[in-house]
Amino acid sequence: MSEYVIRVPAQAMVPVVGGGSFPVRRIYCVGRNYAEHAREMGHDPDREPPFFFMKPADSVVVGGADMAYPPGTSDLHHELELVAALGSGGTDIPVDEALGHVWGYAVGLDMTRRDLQGEAKKLGRPWEMGKGFDGSAPIGEMAEAGSFDPTRGGIELRVNGGVRQSSDLSKMIWSVAETISYLSRLMRLEAGDLIMTGTPEGVAAVGRGDVLEGRIEGLPPLRTRVA
Ligand code: MN
Repeated sequence: MSEYVIRVPAQAMVPVVGGGSFPVRRIYCVGRNYAEHAREMGHDPDREPPFFFMKPADSVVVGGADMAYPPGTSDLHHELELVAALGSGGTDIPVDEALGHVWGYAVGLDMTRRDLQGEAKKLGRPWEMGKGFDGSAPIGEMAEAGSFDPTRGGIELRVNGGVRQSSDLSKMIWSVAETISYLSRLMRLEAGDLIMTGTPEGVAAVGRGDVLEGRIEGLPPLRTRVA
């Protein structure tokens, strides 16, 4: 049996309520999935099919830990999102079977170097350096899907105690089931994949020392401090 020639990189994971951890394979993110956020970013929310980008699996920061202020930016934005975690995958998944592939849910932040993303947009360049940097995906403790309903429920982000984002999951343009179905027609989904389902309006900058607390009704809250 051949051996790896360097030390095997650590498996990214998210802790689960009640013990154990969820191993992360890929992180897919949905862009502009709430109408008010699409508008605040200068887009018409009614004309777009869902679109996707990715973050590296090891950009996960386990909830409760500090998040490092990343290099190369002076405009680090928060985007609070519902995260769906797949326990099984496939291709061409029908909408009415999609939620059956979800193992659990968590509260997550799609942290964004908005200045780098804005420059990339303007120049027609890829988004990775704006979206997929080290530590760009703080994620709270994961809860098993159980009776959690991803089609409704409050979603709220506070920064230093003040409400920054406040909306409802029912305002997603593409539901979690529709998103999984759509994505599975573009990529083969697998167990271990996380899907960040888009952020409501109210995105704004944070700085060193700020404490971010994300809540979604029915899930463990996410708390992280920008160090
Ligand atoms: Mn986002």
